[in-house]
Amino acid sequence: MQPNKIREHLRKFTRLPHLAGTEQNLRYAEQIRDEWLEFGLDSVEMVPYDVLLSYPNKSQPNYISIVDQLGNEVFNSSLAEPVPEGYEDTSNIVPPYSAFSAKGQPEVHTCTTGSILQVSKGIFVFTCVKSVKHNLCARVQPYPAGWNLPGGGAQRGNVLNLNGAGDPLTPGYPAKDYTYRFSLEDGVGLPKIPVHPIGFHDAIHLNMGGQIPPNNWKGALNVSYRIGPGFTDDFKSQKVRMNINTDNKVTRIYNVIGRIRGALEPDRYVILGGHRDAWVFGGIDPMSGAAVVHETVRSAGRLLSKGWRPRRTIVFASWDAEEFGLLGSTEWAEDNAKLLQERAVAYINADSAIEGMYTLRVDCTPSLHTLVYDLTKQITSPEEGEEGVSLYESWHKRDNWTNDRDAPRISKLGSGSDFEAYFIRLGIAAGRARYTKNKKTERYSSYPVYHSVYETFEIVEKFYDPTFKRLQAVAQVRGGLIFLLADSQLLPLDADQYADSLRKYAHSITQLAQTHPEEMKVYEVSFGELVVVFEEISSNHSLVRVMNDQLMYLERAFIDPLGLPGRPFYRHVIFAPSSHNKYAGMSFPGIYDALFDIEHSADPQKAWEEVKRQISIAAFTVNAAAMTLTPPA
Ligand code: GLU
Ligand code: ASP
Ligand code: CA
Ligand code: ZN
Ligand code: ZN
Repeated sequence: MQPNKIREHLRKFTRLPHLAGTEQNLRYAEQIRDEWLEFGLDSVEMVPYDVLLSYPNKSQPNYISIVDQLGNEVFNSSLAEPVPEGYEDTSNIVPPYSAFSAKGQPEVHTCTTGSILQVSKGIFVFTCVKSVKHNLCARVQPYPAGWNLPGGGAQRGNVLNLNGAGDPLTPGYPAKDYTYRFSLEDGVGLPKIPVHPIGFHDAIHLNMGGQIPPNNWKGALNVSYRIGPGFTDDFKSQKVRMNINTDNKVTRIYNVIGRIRGALEPDRYVILGGHRDAWVFGGIDPMSGAAVVHETVRSAGRLLSKGWRPRRTIVFASWDAEEFGLLGSTEWAEDNAKLLQERAVAYINADSAIEGMYTLRVDCTPSLHTLVYDLTKQITSPEEGEEGVSLYESWHKRDNWTNDRDAPRISKLGSGSDFEAYFIRLGIAAGRARYTKNKKTERYSSYPVYHSVYETFEIVEKFYDPTFKRLQAVAQVRGGLIFLLADSQLLPLDADQYADSLRKYAHSITQLAQTHPEEMKVYEVSFGELVVVFEEISSNHSLVRVMNDQLMYLERAFIDPLGLPGRPFYRHVIFAPSSHNKYAGMSFPGIYDALFDIEHSADPQKAWEEVKRQISIAAFTVNAAAMTLTPPA
């Protein structure tokens, strides 16, 4: 896999905006299909679904205004981000908006952010504060001089609360032409209040008063940070009016699915999938990932032409409508659930391949840890001055796991990208890898220009990866994982590592409960059953296929068909997206959520009964999973 080729792929697929459901995103899908066929895949198909998307109304733009006592709009937020140089003539740049926001013109005295909203009928969000603070300190300039977000920039995103449902109108079933659709009122996860994002140049005009925020909510702008309610004294008579006219619309989307048929086990699938739809150009998100997949397909094609064929089938996927709630990947998972639950060995995700310039980041299921370590020891560090140093060593030096063990850190999978349905709904072993920032010094989430018009090809070429060697290293990790999972005789999944991780998670959830020693006694709560069972996980088999199936189905064994409380599509008993931050992974989520804020529970008896029920579900599930690893007869 070559840096220059990755550069070419990225250049080619970031020239025009390609939002899900638009003509241009279909054009790129067709181009990817055609090139994957030229590279030599056995088959490539376009798979359409009709899902609920959400777009601003072109004739009635969204904005926020300050309204004086007479009802005049004395300030209006900007209708678009200033377009970066070279893109002045580009059409179809969607302005910043919160997809699936409710419509309306609420007037509010109290403006505030996210979770502390009380009396408002709407929310406006500006998310640049934290990143601005740190990066001004580090003197990183706003784009195009540096990689920071300009004051006119704002973050697009969706505001659905899907909990893994996929298309809001067809939960559980693929969104085909004959599929029954719920009404918009009954759709899953649609918010009831208007939401809109603004940049700090606009936010500064709002003169918010009220409470002082906690320190880590303050930025480095020359203002006194306030989070409401109300305005500063001089502006007490003002109101804020939101004008939101975004429309929800059932729209056709297209996944591209390519295959290499396995030579010996065609009925075993290893999947590499990532999204293609972008808010605007997608310079980082997602095309840095899509360029890496493209190069992986090209290189697999070269191997095929030399006579190689993998043992198992490899599936490549270019998902659509990820930004609107992981829709393309979830609909395909629903469409193919019966096949996947029998045949899928592993799913590797390929969203943005870079979010910083520091080191590797891997999030994966415990059974993949060993493979990730073995593989990264065979890859070269992309960093200047580290010629001859392995990626493993370079990564270990920069991000040691410290408390857990002396090895590079690997994190739990959370969500917010397309692996969700495969891992958390279907129980397929899954992982993701990308280049990342130094978490210790750069404490903002994602990266400053995330989901803005400034995510261009040039920001990658000028700042994130001028030599394209970091993207090459990520391609080697993602491609290497697929290659080894598809071609090793014995599946490189490590059940002992799963057992180790389970022990660790059981220990931390037990510790958490110990913060309520009295209640534990009164309500007779014990974690005993959860701790003893892990010893039984061991492997001792003869037939390769029997053993491989036991390894493949270990992940499946953690699925509870009833799902987590109130989240029927989150069915993995060991891992779920945190109920408080979708991007973060939570272990033993059922127990954790039952314990959460239990000291404020109105009915402690009932709350502790739920803790006990969740412990028993976890203990049963882990035992049942351990049984699948014992000799079959
Ligand atoms: N990746 C998108 C985001 O983080 C969508 C995630 C989701 O809907 O879960 O905004
Ligand atoms: N950047 C998100 C992630 O970290 C995904 C997205 O916004 O597409 O996976
Ligand atoms: Ca569906
Ligand atoms: Zn993405
Ligand atoms: Zn995104």
